[in-house]
Amino acid sequence: MTRGSDDMSGYGGSVPVRVTGASRAAKGGAIGVLIRSIGTSKNRYAHTGSVRYEEAVPKVPVAALSNPDADLLERLVSRGSPVRVRFRLDCRTLENVETANIVGEVLGREKPDEVVVLSGHIDSWDLGTGAIDDAAGCGMAIEAARLIGSLPRRPLRTVRVVLFANEENGLAGGHAYARQHAAELGRHAGVMEADSGTGRPIGFAWNADPSARPIIGALAKLLAPIGATKMEAGGYGGADISPLSTSDVPLFGLRQDTSTYFDYHHTQNDTFDKIEPESMRKATAALAVWAYVVADLPEGLPRGRIEKK
Ligand SMILES: [Zn+2]
Repeated sequence: MTRGSDDMSGYGGSVPVRVTGASRAAKGGAIGVLIRSIGTSKNRYAHTGSVRYEEAVPKVPVAALSNPDADLLERLVSRGSPVRVRFRLDCRTLENVETANIVGEVLGREKPDEVVVLSGHIDSWDLGTGAIDDAAGCGMAIEAARLIGSLPRRPLRTVRVVLFANEENGLAGGHAYARQHAAELGRHAGVMEADSGTGRPIGFAWNADPSARPIIGALAKLLAPIGATKMEAGGYGGADISPLSTSDVPLFGLRQDTSTYFDYHHTQNDTFDKIEPESMRKATAALAVWAYVVADLPEGLPRGRIEKK
């Protein structure tokens, strides 16, 4: 994938190779699939992640090779001599077990039953410890709510923190939230997800009625001192909150500098030392400002959708 600083397009453009590659290759007769790791890491840890098998296509084994090892294999193949690869995989699918979303609230001063959600996901891909994906997002969401709760004047609406379970393996927590809170979605004034690591904040992706633009513009002005002014219209905010995209709840995603995110994401190297405290403080500030403003708008944000071009 290409390294990018302010969007996920490099990842979005290459990750289908991993997700859909096995079934596509099996249709062409492949008995196994070895891909070059998605991600920008130059070390020998492979980037891994979920694979989707199509029904009625043989489920062939698929593995990811680190970038330096993929380079080596590429050189061997380019010499034209036969190359043999032996697969030894120990991954398997276990039975589902029950886990839970974690929810906490700072009650609003006038409309406590209307909520603004700050969220991240509590699970991680198994190779890493999940420091940047997504303990960082969870930590920022909790801290932003704590800051709001410590202010002398709370916003009109409740600020709810939701730490979703099982983002990585099928969005079960996000789907459960959408289902269990279906009757309450009309009282969700805005939902935000932070799931892009520990980099400095750049702005937000947002999706609401287009008439929300002036309010979004005012938010960008408030965030100018920390440089989080890029407001990108369209999309669904984040994976865990994507099940809410069929509703008219205003959806947001925190955008951060991700230029080094995919050096560590979904590898053994996603560990606590990768956390950048100063960037995280700024990203937390961006979340706190967003949550306070949206929770305190007298009429709320105009609800609806912008279709992404
Ligand atoms: Zn994540």
